[in-house]
Amino acid sequence: MDNDFLRIQDDVCTDMAHGLANNESEKKAIDSILLDNPMRITPYLKKLIVKYDSIRKQFLPSPLEAETHGTATPFEEGKKTSPIYGLERLYRDRVLLTPHFDCPAYCRFCYKKSRVMRNRKSMTLADIDLAVAEVGKMQDVRGALITGGDPFMDKNKLFYLLDKLMTLENIKEIRIGTRMLLNSPHVFTDELCDKLASYIRPNFNDASKSKYLAINVHFNHPDELQPEVLEACHKLTSRGITLRNQTVLLKGINDDTKTMKHLFHLLLRNNIIVYYMNHCMPVAGSDHLRTTVQKGLDIYKDLCTESSCSIPHYVYAPSGGKVHVGPDTTFDYSNENGLNLVKVKLLYKAAEFRAIAKKELPPRHSETEDGFIEGYYIDGTDN
Ligand code: SF4
Repeated sequence: MDNDFLRIQDDVCTDMAHGLANNESEKKAIDSILLDNPMRITPYLKKLIVKYDSIRKQFLPSPLEAETHGTATPFEEGKKTSPIYGLERLYRDRVLLTPHFDCPAYCRFCYKKSRVMRNRKSMTLADIDLAVAEVGKMQDVRGALITGGDPFMDKNKLFYLLDKLMTLENIKEIRIGTRMLLNSPHVFTDELCDKLASYIRPNFNDASKSKYLAINVHFNHPDELQPEVLEACHKLTSRGITLRNQTVLLKGINDDTKTMKHLFHLLLRNNIIVYYMNHCMPVAGSDHLRTTVQKGLDIYKDLCTESSCSIPHYVYAPSGGKVHVGPDTTFDYSNENGLNLVKVKLLYKAAEFRAIAKKELPPRHSETEDGFIEGYYIDGTDN
């Protein structure tokens, strides 16, 4: 693993987290939260956390994490779809590869915390060989999303995986998901960016054979777009690498139209595609950061009056797959033991899910009479 983005010591993290407690009982609550879900930040983030509440709330645990209605593993439900470690397939046309399960900093609302914060081992090179050989046999698959944790935690392993994927004829579209541009922007040296750009392989004689590489980035607030961060982004975009931003809607951080509009305008002006506004998933410990899906829709409607370049896709994600929300969407609710659930018919067929994912439907999901998946999503609150 690379060590060019040193982490802040655990005891310093604990001291910082304790600084938020109003009394001894809140300190104890924080200690018990940290036992299950540790805190981790980078030196770069530490500087930002001291200055910006919007960033502090994303990385420092609140005593409110102890109160939760969410599930421990919203991401895992419906996943683990392959016997090959680090390879998952939920959709017909793309696979998910996770070379490295850890992150250099832990977002408190991380929907993958059950894997990211648990010291899971990385894929070995042998795991990668097996996974790539398997993907090569999946002729319907044309895209690979390399995700995490953060794939830039181990650049050599990332390049090993990219080199292998490039040998597959069926894989034409590669995306890498990362928050490293915020966590440690200095990781993106000219040398690294040159190497990443070398995986963009246009074929002017036969466009169907072109291969592209793009990076999915994750910025939630204008405060995150610091000079070092924007410079690192520019190093990538100026080399032809597409950056697409996925924002998480977070209560008390960016859940107002003004902040979202400002963020999306800044992204646009800095050559970063405004891609998704994700409703914060119902992961345990995130209630205090989750709005209702309706609050997201109210913001989204305001955004829809803007140029379409600065309008993201607004989505929420039951375990069975993403749901796109349109400006005219109305939500169908039901209640389960006091939990407000959004009931939705997904675009995916249950038979296809079973065939591709090779498993049964996730909890709170069933098959409709016409064969589609119906799912229930735990809503947030606005108070
Ligand atoms: S960067 Fe993504 S995977 Fe890593 S802790 Fe944050 S939300 Fe989770």
